[in-house]
Amino acid sequence: MDGNAPRGGRLVVGVAKEIVPDEARVAAVPDIVGRWTAAGIDIVVQAGAGEGAFFADAAYEDAGATIVPDAAALYDRAAVVLKVQRPTEDELGLLREGSILVAFLAPLSNPNLVEQLAAKRITAFSMDAIPRTTRAQSMDALSSQATVAGYKAVLLAAEHLPRFFPMLTTAAGSITPAKALIVGAGVAGLQAIATARRLGAVVEAYDTRPVVKEQVESLGARFVEIETGATDTQDAGGYAKEASEEVLRRQQEVLADRAARSDVVITTAAVPGKAAPRLISADTVERMRPGSVIVDLAAETGGNCELTKPGEVVTHGGVTIIGTINIPGTMPAHASQMYAKNVQNLVALFVKDGTLNLNFGDDIVKGTCVTHDGEITHEPTRARLGLAAPEPAATPVAESAAAQAPAFADASATADGSTAAEDEAATPAPAVTTASQT
Ligand code: NAD
Repeated sequence: MDGNAPRGGRLVVGVAKEIVPDEARVAAVPDIVGRWTAAGIDIVVQAGAGEGAFFADAAYEDAGATIVPDAAALYDRAAVVLKVQRPTEDELGLLREGSILVAFLAPLSNPNLVEQLAAKRITAFSMDAIPRTTRAQSMDALSSQATVAGYKAVLLAAEHLPRFFPMLTTAAGSITPAKALIVGAGVAGLQAIATARRLGAVVEAYDTRPVVKEQVESLGARFVEIETGATDTQDAGGYAKEASEEVLRRQQEVLADRAARSDVVITTAAVPGKAAPRLISADTVERMRPGSVIVDLAAETGGNCELTKPGEVVTHGGVTIIGTINIPGTMPAHASQMYAKNVQNLVALFVKDGTLNLNFGDDIVKGTCVTHDGEITHEPTRARLGLAAPEPAATPVAESAAAQAPAFADASATADGSTAAEDEAATPAPAVTTASQT
C-alpha cells in the first residue's frame, strides 16, 4: 500500500528535466502529454525539460501541461515522476516519500540506488526491466532505444569511413561497396543490418543464437556460421546465454578473419546482467585495414572490442574505434518520442480512469517494479543483494490507497470541490495505443 493516490484531487504526473551531462532525451513528448491531459491527468513539466529533444515548453503548454520553474517545484507536486536516466543523489533527495518513479534504473548495476529508493518508500519502475513478452512489446524501451542505436551506429561508421558505403559506377571510375560485419543480431544489430543495407553496403552478421539466421538473411545479409559445438545458446526469454571460454575463443578466431576483410564492424553483443563478451581482440584490430571503423555499441558494459574506450573515439593502427555511449541520446527527438510511447503504455497499466491502480497480479507491473512500500520487489536484484524472495504480491494498491493521506493531490484541481470519484467519472482512462516497435 502507498500514499500517493490522490483523494479529492487529480493525479499529478511530472516530467523532469534530465540533468546528467549529454542526456538530451525527455521522458514525455507533447503529443503524449496531450493524451494524458485529455484523460484527466494533470501534467507538470519542468521548464526546459524537452529543450534538448527540440520540444519547447510552449508545445507542452499547448498540450495542457503546466510548466514549473525548477526540479524542486516538479518533485514537490508530482505523484508520478517520469525520467529517462536514473536519479542522481540530488534528485533522490527531492523525490517525495511514497511517490512513483519511472526511469531506466539498471537495478542490477545499481543495487545501492535500489536500496535508497526502497528506504524512501518510492514505487520505482525500471524501464530496462520490462519483460520481453509479446504483451509488453509496446513498453519495451530497451528495444526502442536499441533501434535508435543500431541505426545511428551505421551513420557514425559512415561518417568516419574514408570510403563510400554503396557501389558506384561513375565517369571517374567504379567504386566497390563497403563491407560491413555486424556482431550480435538482436534488436540493435538487426537495425544496423537494415541501415547498412539501405546505404548500399555488403553486410554479413553473426550471432551466437542460430535462430536469428533467418532474420539476418531476410534483411539481405549473409549469416556467418561458427561451429562452436554449443547447442544451449539462448534462454527461455530469447536472450543469449553467456558463452564458455572455449566458445568465445572459437568465435574470436572466426570473427578475426571476417573483421580483417571488413571496412566496418558494428558490435552489439550483450548478455543481460553480464559484462559484454570480448569478441574483437587487439590482434584482430591490427589485422584490419587502416581506415576501417569499429562501432562498439557494447562500450557501456565493457565493450565487445578489447581496444574500446567507453565514451571516446580512438584510433589504433589507422582503425577508428568508436566507443560513444548513450547513442540513443544523440538522436533525442525520435528516441524521446519512442521512449515516451513506451512510458505511456506502461503508465496505462497502473493509472486507470485518471487514478492510480497498482496491480501486482499483472506480470508487467510485477516484473518492472523494483521497489514498493519500503521493499525491494525486483527478484533478480534481491538475489544479487542476497535477500530472500519477496512475500507473495499484495492486493492491488488502489483498493487500500483511499485510506491514505492525499499527499500528492493537486490542490488547484480540487478548487471546484469535486471528489476523486467525480473526477474519475468525468475522465476516460489514459489511452493505450500503438507499439513503438515495428
Ligand atoms: P541484447 O542486447 O541482450 O544482445 C544483443 C545480441 O547479442 C543478442 O542477439 C545476443 O544473442 C547477442 N550475443 C550475445 N553474446 C554473443 C556472442 N558471444 N557472440 C555473438 N552474439 C552474441 O539483446 P536484445 O537485442 O535486447 O534482444 C535479444 C533477443 O531478445 C531478440 O532478438 C528477441 O529474440 C528477444 N526479444 C524479445 C522481445 C519481445 O518478445 N518483446 C523484445 C525484445 C527482444
